[in-house]
Amino acid sequence: MGEIRTPQEMLGQLISFNTISALSNKDMIKFIADYLAGHGINSSTGGNEDGTKADLIATIGPNVEGGLVLSGHTDVVPVEGQDWHTDPFEMVEVGGRIYGRGTSDMKGFIAVVLALVPEILALPLVKPLHFVFSYDEEVGCLGAPGLIARLMRDKPKPRAAIIGEPTSMKLVNAHKGITAFETRVIGKPGHSSQPHKGVNAIAVAADCIRFLQDRAGSFEAGEGPRDERFEPSHTTVSIGTIIGGTANNIIAGECAFTWDVRAVVQRKVSGSERRSMPIAIMFCCPLCGGFHPKPTLFPKNLPMSRR
Ligand SMILES: [Zn+2]
Repeated sequence: MGEIRTPQEMLGQLISFNTISALSNKDMIKFIADYLAGHGINSSTGGNEDGTKADLIATIGPNVEGGLVLSGHTDVVPVEGQDWHTDPFEMVEVGGRIYGRGTSDMKGFIAVVLALVPEILALPLVKPLHFVFSYDEEVGCLGAPGLIARLMRDKPKPRAAIIGEPTSMKLVNAHKGITAFETRVIGKPGHSSQPHKGVNAIAVAADCIRFLQDRAGSFEAGEGPRDERFEPSHTTVSIGTIIGGTANNIIAGECAFTWDVRAVVQRKVSGSERRSMPIAIMFCCPLCGGFHPKPTLFPKNLPMSRR
């Protein structure tokens, strides 16, 4: 007979594994595999190329098509620089609330699934339940493609998947598109006492960012499609990071910033709609040394027509 744990006990156990995406999650996967084995459930694990991350697939019920996937990611976001009052990797209950990194996103779901194993085993299942746990979700869903391929290769085709992300108990069955960019501005360095002889990459980057902010503003003001399933319901543009310049008395020769567009697409986009996407290229003219802000269209075939 395998271990019996309440969902809360199970959650405390899962939170105790520090699985921020920069670290290995293999101890947590091993714990899950051992727990399932204790209940007589076989699981298979895969992982990334350098063997530092692992995923897990396990099935309860008949080996037939039409099953239900219960899926979650085992990694969590970092805790550095955050105002934690308790150890993030030790579950604590304060005032009727449970604290710990991953409590809701999303070890809570995995804990409930695992704690229910004894009850699930007692059910006369006519279709299978597949437990599918991934790694590296928080850093771009890196673990998902290989895991899905393995699932489709090794298991009869399931009918649906429930991903236990925290969504305030509301059904979320769609996502905005996301495209991430890095824009690098190359200027012309020189001494800050003679700015007219150089091109300040930071100043040009600031103009680019202003342009993107203006585009973001017009989406907010009503441009483009809206979809009330999303909050906010319009396409967003956000600047993420910026780095540039070498010293206060040097005209910045280089500046780079990252940004993303999260697009609302309600149907296949037409060419003219695609041209309204907020993409900016600005470039410094090698001939005159000045810069020409030139909002233009790039890249030509954004993957925006896919849902
Ligand atoms: Zn999550």
